Amino acid sequence: MVVDDDNEKASSKVAAGVINPVTGRRYAYTWMIDQIMPFAVQCYEEMGNYFDTQFVFHKNIIDFFPSAQMRNAFVERLEENDTYLHSYPDQNHFNPYFNYDFGCGEISPAYTVHFQILLSSWRKKLQELNALQEEKFDVNELKVEEEFISYQNITAQKIFFCDGADGVHNPWFQLLPYAPNKGEALFIECDGLNNDYIFKKSLALVPLAQQNLYWIGSNYQWEFENDQPSQQFFQHATSVLNGWLKKPYRIVAHKAAVRPATLERRPFIGFHPQFQNIGILNGMGTKGASLAPFFAHQLTQHLIHGFPIAPEANVHRFTRILSK
Ligand SMILES: Cc1cc2nc3c(=O)[nH]c(=O)nc-3n(C[C@H](O)[C@H](O)[C@H](O)COP(=O)(O)OP(=O)(O)OC[C@H]3O[C@@H](n4cnc5c(N)ncnc54)[C@H](O)[C@@H]3O)c2cc1C
Repeated sequence: MVVDDDNEKASSKVAAGVINPVTGRRYAYTWMIDQIMPFAVQCYEEMGNYFDTQFVFHKNIIDFFPSAQMRNAFVERLEENDTYLHSYPDQNHFNPYFNYDFGCGEISPAYTVHFQILLSSWRKKLQELNALQEEKFDVNELKVEEEFISYQNITAQKIFFCDGADGVHNPWFQLLPYAPNKGEALFIECDGLNNDYIFKKSLALVPLAQQNLYWIGSNYQWEFENDQPSQQFFQHATSVLNGWLKKPYRIVAHKAAVRPATLERRPFIGFHPQFQNIGILNGMGTKGASLAPFFAHQLTQHLIHGFPIAPEANVHRFTRILSK
């Protein structure tokens, strides 16, 4: 039984759904990417087959270097290890679409996951199975016994909290070192733009499911007063677009959400060290598209077969904190 309030401001509903094997200005390879990325892609493909649709798309990233230094950093990194970084042979290929002065490289393979479509398909399925209660879960009404938990008219062996950034207010796990991070994006319509790739300069331009619709973002705010879209980001994103994109575009939406990020950038997976029937799957930070399938699987394997959870992700690393 899933209890979910279908909050429009959930991080997954605002995210671009990009799986990028490379992270940061130094082009470091993302944590556990060799295992996590193929696992996630296969998982989304299987889910797509189940629903007779496609959720995951292979879209390499064209990285336009914002400066000569960044071009050099890319080349140096590529010479060290070229698993995911590649030179792009035809440097003028994207001239009809973009202004760029310092060339481009390619990050491959990379993917986009169409979360909006995936989540609504899944929600419909849960409704058909009578397995969804669409309402706010009031944690004060949760009763935790030795062998089971109960909530209103539901009795279950276990409960898992997958409450995203709201997890910071969840009394069972709020002592975990969360570091919520606000991000924003514009949704634009643009005709005639090549949609085979994700394009990156200081922001990423990501093709969405609907023809000619693109996502552009994001920013990373550790301190913020509210979770609303800001004028500051709007101005920044439109000024980037105006200087970069050669095609006319129309803004159709501006959204913001809070990412369930963590201080040490690793997720929170497993069972509460003191309450064996209370579990958590959270802390996906900026990487939910790739991390969530892998760690949801680890958690279920742990539940069913007692297989271990990766120590860097297991919430038991915070046993002392959670025992306070
Ligand atoms: C602008 C932006 C861009 C992003 N881009 C990417 C990207 O390209 N790639 C990537 O991998 N990640 C990206 N992310 C991060 C990604 O969104 C998250 O890692 C991931 O979606 C988190 O998923 P979640 O299910 O843990 O949380 P959420 O998506 O927030 O889901 C939590 C759910 O719990 C529900 N809920 C919470 N509390 C309650 C309650 N008390 N009662 C009932 N329901 C409740 C909410 O309604 C929601 O449905 C981005 C995030 C943002 C904000």
